[in-house]
This record gives sequence, structure tokens and C-alpha cells, in this order.
Amino acid sequence: MRILRIVAAFVVFGAFATAFPDEASTAARLEKAKRSEPELIAFLKSMPKGADLHNHVTGAIYSDYMLDYAIGAGLHFNRKTNAFQKEPAEDTVPAAKLTEDWTAYRAFMYSVSMAGSFPAVKSGHDHFFDTFGFIGPANNGRNPADSLTEVIARNQAQNVQYLELMTSVAPGSAMSAFMKDAPPVDDFEFAFRLLEPRFEALRAESRRYLDQRDAEVARRLGRKSVSGVEGPTDVRYVASLNRLGANAEFFVTAAAAMAIIQADKRVVAMNIVAPEDFVTARQNFDFQMRAIDFLWRRMGRPNLTLHAGELTLEISPYETMRDRIRKTIELGHAKRIGHGVSVAWEDDLPGLLKLMRDQGVAVEICLTSNASILKVEGDRHPIHLYLDNGIPLNLNTDDEGVSRSNLTQEYVRAVRSYGFSYARLKDLVRNGLEYSFLPGEGLYVARDYRRLRPEFAEVRKPSWSPGAAAKRLMDANEKLAIQVRLERAFVAFEN
Ligand SMILES: [Zn+2]
Repeated sequence: MRILRIVAAFVVFGAFATAFPDEASTAARLEKAKRSEPELIAFLKSMPKGADLHNHVTGAIYSDYMLDYAIGAGLHFNRKTNAFQKEPAEDTVPAAKLTEDWTAYRAFMYSVSMAGSFPAVKSGHDHFFDTFGFIGPANNGRNPADSLTEVIARNQAQNVQYLELMTSVAPGSAMSAFMKDAPPVDDFEFAFRLLEPRFEALRAESRRYLDQRDAEVARRLGRKSVSGVEGPTDVRYVASLNRLGANAEFFVTAAAAMAIIQADKRVVAMNIVAPEDFVTARQNFDFQMRAIDFLWRRMGRPNLTLHAGELTLEISPYETMRDRIRKTIELGHAKRIGHGVSVAWEDDLPGLLKLMRDQGVAVEICLTSNASILKVEGDRHPIHLYLDNGIPLNLNTDDEGVSRSNLTQEYVRAVRSYGFSYARLKDLVRNGLEYSFLPGEGLYVARDYRRLRPEFAEVRKPSWSPGAAAKRLMDANEKLAIQVRLERAFVAFEN
């Protein structure tokens, strides 16, 4: 279709220069689009995007659809607490009433997102983390396939190839059974042996849960599956656990996450979540890293991506920030870190940056989230420090529903804040897949995007189609298959 339109333009206007656009003219289009946000949105919305690697599904749901659900499920809105509840009470109104009661409507919409002017009332950080106390009740009884469908469909519409989603990977009942009578954790080996016999039951429940949820989401999206490589947007899951919990709970949930990762290729990694500055997150950090170190060695060295350095002096002592990122990498074995905002406060910063560069530790950058939670934006953000030191970065949403953002908007923000060129954006896009936890070999030689594997030397030519050797490689390597799809999406976008 696009080619036909271009040919038509050629015939009508005789404009040979625009008849065969390429990377250079696409880069020029971006430069022109920089004059206004709507033009940037228009450009970046359809530009292929590799991946969102840092996306909490609970925080990705838009309040608008929570309200639709609450109305359908007949929940009741409590005007005093601003939370939904199942049963009516003295201060409640039926959810359906919020369609005419603007005060209650706004109270709800503001309680579950960063919309409105809450920083004027209390800190963005506090309002952000408080939203989860309202999001839970608003989704009480909701099918988890609803939120996954919402997130995947939204990303499909923005030409995003791949998502690693932090979301539940086992039913709550299976997790409770696994955690029952948690063993003491003063002896890791002893605790591990007590937990080991529970792995199989947990894995079976997890598999059933994911099979069912994936099938339902695929059905709603009209696809065969969502966790393969068929596209347009494939997903994998990241098991996340609460970093605020007591030490015994932390150890047990980390063991549960790794047990599932070992057995199910849809669950590609583990993360630790909740405010990193909170008192227990700070006090228990060293224990948590030791626990992860032990379990990681004991359980097949799984992929880990860990929130680290989502801190500023306003919410954290300097002392905490002196080694938070380094320890997360060295002891916590994180292959990627989330946020990394406090990096400049780290001891031996050149040494840390060298370590990250040498090991290829990527940073999941979440610009909107950092701006609203930490007040870190523009030249307060360490993005240049990372880029100038050759640290691989990619752009992510964190909590797109709470932040009222999406992946396109993150690219818009990056371009408006830092003036990135098209070549820079393509690097960020490609990093999303190269540093993903998709298994298999990649498309590029030594992570250099200018050097393609010989079987794919022509992959960026419009006329390319895979030969037998290329097909074999794509069948055997999920990462490579999706990287090829991304390169072809660039060809379509640029031509
Ligand atoms: Zn996060």
C-alpha cells in the first residue's frame, strides 16, 4: 500500500527525491518533527520500538478501564476512603453513579494515577506509591487477562515488538501454599532443603495459570499465542517479589520465583519491587542480596533484572547510594538494573561504569516515572553519564497507567529533553531486544548493530526474504527471530 502511494506521488509530482525514502530522509523527518510535540507523537507512534523491558502490569492499567470494570462488576465507591469496595455502606455510591457524580469520579481518577495536581498537596513520590492502595480494590475480582490484553493491545498499536511484563506468574493460592510455615533463614542451605519438595506443586499450578491466562489473552486479541515469536507484540514474564517483606518472606518468594523460571520459558527473569527508599528496603538490602546470591547459585543462575538506584537525597541517605547499584550487580547478579538514577553518588564511579560496560549491564530508563516520583528530569537525570560511558540503555514505561504515559510518550520525552537523533533512537530501540532475556543467539555480531550475521547481510534491503540458513537460525533462536522482525519493521517504516 505504502509503495503504491509513493509511486502515485512520483507519477503526479515527478518528485524523484521522495520516491525512494531511506534512513537519511527518515532522520530528516524526525529533525523536522522536533518543532512540536504532536509532530513528534505522530512520528514516534509509528516508529518501530523494540521493547518495553520495565513494565509493572498493575501500574499499567488505565484508570478509565478500571472504572469500566467497577461499573460492570457492581462495585461501590467509598467517598470517604476514595476506594472501591464490594459491599455498599453508609458512605458509598454504586460505581455506575460515578458517570454523573463528577466529584466522586475525579476523586477516583486522581486516587489511582498521577493525573491532577497532587504534587501541590503532597509529594509525587508519596502519591505515586499510594495509588496502589486504590488500584487493588478497584480491580477486585477482575480477570487478570483483562489487564494483559489492555497492555499488549496498546503496545501493538504503537509498533512495539516485545514486552517483558512484571506480573503474577502463579495463582495467589499456590503462592500461599508454597509460603506456608516459611522456614527460618539463618541457614540458607537448610531453608532451601525444606522448600525444595514444594517446587513441583508450585510449578504445576503456575503452568496451569499461565496456560489459561495466555490462551484467554490470545483469544481476545485474535492471535494463536502471545508468548511465542509470532508477533506483532510478543510477551514474556518477569516474576516480581516484594522488597519490603520480612527476610523469611523474601527468601521464600525469591525461591518460588526462581523455581518457576527454571521450569517455564515464558518466565524469563526475576525482579524485586516496591519503594527502594522505604525503611525495610534499606535495612534488609544486604540480607536480600545475600539471599539472591545463594539462590541464584543454587538454582541454575537465572536472569535477574533488579530495581537499583531509584533514589535521591530527598528520600535516601547518601550512604545507601554509595554502593546500591554496585552491590545489586556484584552480589545480586543483575544483568539489567531498573532506573539507576543515583549512579553519580556511587563510590569509584569510573570503576562501576567500566564494570557495567564490560559486563554489558543495561539500564532500564524510565523518564516519566523518574520525573513524577523523584523530580529527576532534564539535566537532573544521569542519562548522559551512562551514554558517554557506553552503558546500554533502553526506554521503558514503568507504570504507564499510573503515570498516564505510554512507550511512544517516553520516546517523545527523550527527544524533547535530550534532542536525540534518529540514529540514537534506533540504538535505544535495538537495545530493547539485544538486552532482553529472550533466549538464543542474536542478529548482530558482538552486539554491534552495524555488523549483521552473514546469513542476514541483506536483511535491511527492502527486497530481502530469508533463505534456508536464515530460516533455520530464526526457528532456533527466539531473540534473533524478533530482532529480524524489528529490522524489517524499520525497513517498512523508512521506505
Ligand atoms: Zn519499576
